Amino acid sequence: MHYPLTSWVGGALAGWSPETLAGVITVTAAVKILVSMLWLGVIGYSVTMSVAWHRFLGVLNVYARRELDGSAALGAAAPMLVAGKLFDIRDIDDLDEDATFGVGKIEEFGWKSLLDFASCTECGRCQDLCPAWNTGKPLSPKLFTLALRDHAAGRDHSADVASALSSSGAAGSDSASEGLVGLVINPDTLWSCTTCGACVDQCPVDIEHVDHILDLRRHEVMVASDFPEEFNSLFANLETKGNPWGLPARDRMDWAKGLDFSVPVLGKDLASAEEVDTLLWVGCAGAFDEKAKRTTAAVAELLHLAGVKFAVLGQAETCCGDAARRAGNEATYQGLAVENIETFAEYGVKQIVATCAHCLNALSREYSQLGGAYRVEHHTQVLNRLIRAGQLNLVEPPEQEKVQITYHDPCYLGRHNQEFDAPRELLAGLGEADLVEMEHHAATSLCCGGGGARMWTEEKLGTRINSARMDEAVATGAATVATACPYCAIMLSDAGAARDEAPQVTDVAHLVLAGVKRGLDSAQPRKDEQA
Ligand code: SF4
Ligand code: SF4
Repeated sequence: MHYPLTSWVGGALAGWSPETLAGVITVTAAVKILVSMLWLGVIGYSVTMSVAWHRFLGVLNVYARRELDGSAALGAAAPMLVAGKLFDIRDIDDLDEDATFGVGKIEEFGWKSLLDFASCTECGRCQDLCPAWNTGKPLSPKLFTLALRDHAAGRDHSADVASALSSSGAAGSDSASEGLVGLVINPDTLWSCTTCGACVDQCPVDIEHVDHILDLRRHEVMVASDFPEEFNSLFANLETKGNPWGLPARDRMDWAKGLDFSVPVLGKDLASAEEVDTLLWVGCAGAFDEKAKRTTAAVAELLHLAGVKFAVLGQAETCCGDAARRAGNEATYQGLAVENIETFAEYGVKQIVATCAHCLNALSREYSQLGGAYRVEHHTQVLNRLIRAGQLNLVEPPEQEKVQITYHDPCYLGRHNQEFDAPRELLAGLGEADLVEMEHHAATSLCCGGGGARMWTEEKLGTRINSARMDEAVATGAATVATACPYCAIMLSDAGAARDEAPQVTDVAHLVLAGVKRGLDSAQPRKDEQA
């Protein structure tokens, strides 16, 4: 039987006259056309009102997320397109004079961005975990998305933004009549983002909020020159000194001064990275911030004790560029990244260990966009591996010295690079009293407030994000907050210093070094045994 489903209908109509059958066909066709028209009308209403598009587009948006072309929306920032081509600082002379950067008008967003805006279900899960929204900043990733959606659909939010600007006296209000920022998006909304990625991670339809925030920031920095004034010194320090602190490159090896072994420098003590197991990437914080310098020294000591051969770049290292990129200054970021990529090529660097989560993300996930591909590990991953291999031996502290520890997940190690376990396994191996988790931890961790170049700006609106995070740490009752990124350590230490009593903030590496040294001490023969 060729028509198993409909042949019985044909059989039932066998006795009907051709005229009757023609009437039935006409009525059936009319009903079908009517239903189709009604359906188109529903979609048309949705287009106009933008209330139900997500029902059709959410699924499409999930399939269109950046992951499909090999680069997840978390981790690496989306590359910048100029006139439809990937921007590369090495080809800047080939750009047209009227080339524009980032997004200044709604029509400059690509199709995926518009699909993102139209797909929002208004569920609010993104703003529930947003550190900016939860500390009284004007940024809600949901309202940000809806404002762009409505603007794309022709509905105007400029009156709301203008009134918010006049009541807050926000920076950048001069541009209120020109581009998206000021007209549709309050500048304070744009600059409040720490790029922590919680919104992207939480969104059920995979909207890529951070990509859009960076696109707008790129336009504000590279075209409109309208950004928080603190970025002037940040950009100048990065461009002239190669680090956000503006300190001289000759100080980059100061962290190693107290070590009782020498740290070889590529280009000075060694000609090639092939003579060692790995490059220890020090990072700007690891070279210039006092607390982070001690972490660099602790990691170097642990590598030395484990018998790992490593070298550093010394003065040849320059900033990884993360802060510039997250601030929207793609040109400065790429200038720094290309310099490092050339240095890596000169010394044949292929294997890297980094102590900063931002450096880890830039070197492992972003430099490949410019042709640099390396195997990059975080120090907690390397230490974990060395302990498992028996190259380091951790010994628990005596019972009376054990303290409770809580762990703060750095966004660029955890959420952006999905490493939640290595630091926790190290802490568990230390046998310090139980690891107590904060209310928000691992994938739902709360940012320290320092990412997205926010560490380099004043936090003038709402309450401080680092203080909110320290509140969660205090609530655990832990005596120590361990973390694994110098930015987090700086932000949380600042929050602790602002109150009378707070847990001590330290990098996991210091706790591991103390555990390893306990083992070494107990292995030493006592003086009476020697005698
Ligand atoms: S990246 Fe973080 S701070 Fe920025 S909008 Fe998303 S949740 Fe908020
Ligand atoms: S989580 Fe996604 S879908 Fe839900 S409100 Fe936020 S952007 Fe819209």
